[in-house]
Amino acid sequence: MRAPSLMWLRMRIVALLWRVGEEAFAEIDAFAWVQRWEIRRTWHTHTYRDPRFDALTPCRVCSAKGRCPTGLPCRRCRGTGRVNVLETPASRRPEHPSGGRA
Ligand SMILES: [Zn+2]
Repeated sequence: MRAPSLMWLRMRIVALLWRVGEEAFAEIDAFAWVQRWEIRRTWHTHTYRDPRFDALTPCRVCSAKGRCPTGLPCRRCRGTGRVNVLETPASRRPEHPSGGRA
C-alpha cells in the first residue's frame, strides 16, 4: 500500500475544514439566504451583506451631513445624511400628509 502524498493530505484537510465550516454556518447561511443577503465564504469566515445598502446614496441637499445650515434636520434625508434611491418621494415623507386623501 502506498502512503498518501502530501498534496492529497492537504486536500483532505482543506475539504474537512470546508465541511466543518459549512455545518457551523448552516443556520445563519439559511437565514441570510431567506433574507436575500450576499454571502461570501472562506473556510473559516462567512460575510453577509444586504444588497439593499447599494440603494443608499449620500444626500446632496445637506452634503450627507443630515443638517441644514440652519442646524435643523435635513428634510430630504430626514437627518440621516443618506437617501434610498429605491424609495419613492411620497414614501419618504410619511410625517407630512398631503392633505386628507386616504
Ligand atoms: Zn440631507
